Amino acid sequence: MSSVETTMKPNIMMPHTATILEVIEETSDVKTFRVKIDDEQAWENFRQKAGQVAELSVFGIGESVISITSSPTVRDYLEFSIKRCGVLTDMIHTLHTGDKIGVRGPYGNGFPIGQWKGKNLVIVAGGIALAPVRSVLNYALDNRDDYGKISLFYGARSPQDLVFRWEYERYKNEKDMAFHTTVDCGDDSWTGPVGVVGALLKEVKPSPKNSIAIMCGPPIMIKFVLQDLTALNFQPDQIVTTLEGKMQCCVGLCGRCNIGSKYICKDGPVFTLAELNEINGDF
Ligand SMILES: Cc1cc2nc3c(=O)[nH]c(=O)nc-3n(C[C@H](O)[C@H](O)[C@H](O)COP(=O)(O)OP(=O)(O)OC[C@H]3O[C@@H](n4cnc5c(N)ncnc54)[C@H](O)[C@@H]3O)c2cc1C
Repeated sequence: MSSVETTMKPNIMMPHTATILEVIEETSDVKTFRVKIDDEQAWENFRQKAGQVAELSVFGIGESVISITSSPTVRDYLEFSIKRCGVLTDMIHTLHTGDKIGVRGPYGNGFPIGQWKGKNLVIVAGGIALAPVRSVLNYALDNRDDYGKISLFYGARSPQDLVFRWEYERYKNEKDMAFHTTVDCGDDSWTGPVGVVGALLKEVKPSPKNSIAIMCGPPIMIKFVLQDLTALNFQPDQIVTTLEGKMQCCVGLCGRCNIGSKYICKDGPVFTLAELNEINGDF
């Protein structure tokens, strides 16, 4: 009689339970959650790269893809900044310190920051999309001597929509860092530039020499910032973006993020413009 061996494979769709350590109110509809996975071994194994994402779940409701906004250099917690815009994110916004949440990941290829040592970083972000690129920015600041000049161009709809304001002092005081903020519509309190983030780029004209441009934002912003960077002579292999809004299951099973010959979740979400030009598809 032959014996049948059964092996239990871990379920890749199974989240870890995690505890919310802190909730930071960013704006009227964005909160940053500091979270730690409960199981010690799972926490130790969770080693994300800058630009990777996780699936966050509220039990009994569902899950959503959310960027890990904290830098891999921070080992006490993971940070997720979440905009309230639907069923799951509304639920997450009702959670408090001590509540449980599900986390699976990390997923995606992340930004190849290790390859960018010695380069200048030009980071362009719009709205909540500062969250994914903040992981790169803070990684570079925590390893300051490995990178050249760092420029952050950040645009939001209004002064009230600016996220991570509690970090701006650091950005303003960092050695060899330029921090440019703009809003689409100002108010009485706003003394900074008004207009889209691309207008700031055109005005400041960061040099493409020995530089990498990293951008993330809504599709309309990406479209125009790409043109602005190209006009400044950034080459396709110097422009890197992370494709928002495409990933669903994150493990290549659901097929929702397929573009041309690529799965955004398995092959991306971070691509250079040179790579995107080779993929035959609509972004
Ligand atoms: C790579 C990536 C990174 C992201 N990073 C961030 C981030 O850092 N911060 C952030 O705020 N957002 C981020 N997002 C966006 C975030 O994933 C969405 O805002 C979130 O999924 C919205 O979820 P919701 O349930 O609140 O919205 P809803 O509008 O309620 O639902 C979102 C989607 O789920 C589907 N859906 C809802 N309910 C069901 C159901 N019962 N059965 C089947 N389908 C259903 C809807 O059709 C819809 O397509 C990111 C997205 C991606 C792809």
